[in-house]
Amino acid sequence: MEALRRRLEAITERVEDALARAGRPPGSVTIVGVSKTVPAEVVEAAFAAGLRHVGENRVQEGREKQAALAHLPITWHLVGHLQRNKVRYVVGSWALIHSLDRLALAEEIDRRARRAGIVVDCLVQVNIGGEATKSGVAPEGLMALLESLAPLEGIRVRGLMTIPPPAEDPERTRPYFARLRELAEQVSRAFPAGPDASGAGARIRMEHLSMGMSADYPVAVEEGATIIRVGEALFGPRSAWKR
Ligand SMILES: *Cc1c(COP(=O)(O)O)cnc(C)c1O
Repeated sequence: MEALRRRLEAITERVEDALARAGRPPGSVTIVGVSKTVPAEVVEAAFAAGLRHVGENRVQEGREKQAALAHLPITWHLVGHLQRNKVRYVVGSWALIHSLDRLALAEEIDRRARRAGIVVDCLVQVNIGGEATKSGVAPEGLMALLESLAPLEGIRVRGLMTIPPPAEDPERTRPYFARLRELAEQVSRAFPAGPDASGAGARIRMEHLSMGMSADYPVAVEEGATIIRVGEALFGPRSAWKR
């Protein structure tokens, strides 16, 4: 508990320093603690230390922790790849889906959301590094995907997310973060805010850039991240939790 409090403070401090360096307003980044493999009791301790946003990359594991921690006002983020057959477990109980990356998935989310009478907030995941092993829409396909999402009334696209290729030196990921920010700027120009006939301007808004993990979040904040996803920097090495 003490260790969690110290780490959360250290992360917050580094985020605020990066915001100041970038000339951005204090407090303008949401810290999502990614708790994959971390037991629910430890997530509860992190909540007691001040963490309010928790991310999981697997639906099933996340659902178990949501049930165990239902008494806490945690905002849940789905940060990992989402399969269509898991959508029914996600709509309504997760505040933000970071990994929308294809139309078929969007259509399933939209269908379930409209049936439940809600709108699901999503980020579109972009595969900036073009790695074959990673999910996410290719940068060249982003505009076409957004065009096809715009009519879906059950989905609100609130920004973009990316996982850059791993690098030893966080400076090497900086160009990927900058690229995601540029893409979001292009999208904002293509889908201007405000009422229009299709409603696309209201349903596609670039309010968030989800980028930066334990190794590189200060660089991501300098490049415009509004949401960072930190696992090991907060919870310690994941190998410690593996059963
Ligand atoms: C695990 C994970 C993170 C956090 O990674 P760390 O390196 O532990 O900070 C962030 N985003 C996604 C999508 C993840 O799966």
